[in-house]
Amino acid sequence: MIFETHCHLYDEKFNEDINSLIKRCLENNVGLIMLVGDNINHSKLCVEVSKNYQEVYASIGVHPQEVDSVDYDQLENQLKSLLTSKVKAIGEIGLDYYWKNDEITKNKQKKYFIKQIEIANKLELPLIIHARNSVEDCINILKKYPCNKKGVFHCFSGSVEQMKKILKMGFYIGLDGPITYKNSITSKQVAKEVDLEKLVIETDSPYLPPVPFRGKINYPYYLNYVIEEIATLRNVDSKLIENITMENGKKLFYI
Ligand SMILES: [Zn+2]
Repeated sequence: MIFETHCHLYDEKFNEDINSLIKRCLENNVGLIMLVGDNINHSKLCVEVSKNYQEVYASIGVHPQEVDSVDYDQLENQLKSLLTSKVKAIGEIGLDYYWKNDEITKNKQKKYFIKQIEIANKLELPLIIHARNSVEDCINILKKYPCNKKGVFHCFSGSVEQMKKILKMGFYIGLDGPITYKNSITSKQVAKEVDLEKLVIETDSPYLPPVPFRGKINYPYYLNYVIEEIATLRNVDSKLIENITMENGKKLFYI
């Protein structure tokens, strides 16, 4: 069975009840699901839903593009108030320089990122890191402010060199639908070379659907397309990728 390590099933793009969505996933070979929050409200929703399913876990955190939605001084209390035994990570957190990359934006994102690493250490949880056009800065921050329980660089789109640096720090690499895209040459190379013991798979759904669903809504049960692509690139059986990424996901989140 598949471990979907990163999805946003609460997203309104689905236009569908989150519970029916989860049930459909569980009926379609998705064995475990990590619901990932991107702000306080969504994190709360993930936690609430995770209580109802043995197979569903929650990650709580404030995404770099959501830093204006919560007061810096309130961050720790707000996140701590959501804590249950189903909360297995702090995320997604990190840096996003894609939309805006002026110094003020960058510095604010860094401040929130560092604060949430500190919170993760207090709560003894790993991180789910969002690094868009910012992998080097994320790596540098993590070197200066290490996370005891490590974590994952989700939807990794960096180079093979950066991937190696991340593995050296003890973090996992999360790969998604884009590795099925023809022009994702670097990501395909990462999928080929990444240490299999450090690979997890995810959809980031409803975003980033794999081929042949580009332009449509993505669902966790499309992960078999990601698995197939990795298996083909590495010339191994897809069952091996399915099983090992399940085991890796459990290790990553201490499940
Ligand atoms: Zn995400």
